[in-house]
Amino acid sequence: MALIQHFDPWKGKFCTCPPKYTLNPYTGCRHSCLYCYITSFIPQAFVVREKQNLLQAVQKELQKIKSSYLSLSNSSDPYPMEEEEKQYTRTILKMCKDHGIPVLILTKSPLVIRDIDILKEMKAAVSLTITTIDPKKAKILEPHAPEPEARIQALQELSRAGIPTLLRLDPIIPGINDNPKEWEEILQQLSAFVRQVVVSTFKPRADSWKRLVEAFPSLSSTQSWYTQKEGNSFYLERQKRENILRSLQQIVHHHGLFFSSCREGFPEWNDLHCDGSSFLQVQSRNALSVIGGTSFRG
Ligand code: SF4
Repeated sequence: MALIQHFDPWKGKFCTCPPKYTLNPYTGCRHSCLYCYITSFIPQAFVVREKQNLLQAVQKELQKIKSSYLSLSNSSDPYPMEEEEKQYTRTILKMCKDHGIPVLILTKSPLVIRDIDILKEMKAAVSLTITTIDPKKAKILEPHAPEPEARIQALQELSRAGIPTLLRLDPIIPGINDNPKEWEEILQQLSAFVRQVVVSTFKPRADSWKRLVEAFPSLSSTQSWYTQKEGNSFYLERQKRENILRSLQQIVHHHGLFFSSCREGFPEWNDLHCDGSSFLQVQSRNALSVIGGTSFRG
């Protein structure tokens, strides 16, 4: 099977991403986030494994990407601690740069700043996920992921280097990280360093729900809120999703940033594509107001 695949989140009807390719340089993800969905389709999902002949295969498969871009990664983190030594993601970035293929990075790891030298020389945008700035809560929710403070610093450093950055404030789990005061605090720290904020609500599957309720027993009283089923995931009832997204949108716009939600069923609220690809279409920061059709700061 090819390592580089068309991105297709289970043909989800709420996905509004433009056509793109996706690659996971590693199989599995040690961060072990309780809310993670990859455990429903990857055996031993929280164990990081290398792929055989990865670089040779990627070099060959990159030829098939034409007029599109590559997303790293959607079912793992492209910067696990193994990457420090192996440098597979770094090598793939160099290959993409040489082929003129734009790249979107999605990570929770500050190791991404190691590759600023390459990212600066190609079309790229980096999304970092922060679900909470409370280190104790983060340690339970994302046991082996880097601390939120390290992620904040990574976003700041990327931004100072001129690389388009996005904050992924997701998933929002009612009862865990749905306090607007915390959202405001996060935005206060980051609004000068990110161009867009992407949000989504928690979409539990059987195994992720079990892990979360074991760690946060009070959540069991919220189970009845997840009434909508899309594919293998449950969704919060529409009105609750709408309330969460509307209040986040207000905060994000108040800070002069672009807002998008991801797979929520409200595409008309998105200022830009939620995957960061809007930033691949332009060279200059100012030109983004044209793409967004808004007067927000880009
Ligand atoms: S970083 Fe993403 S892929 Fe890795 S465990 Fe967390 S949610 Fe899953």
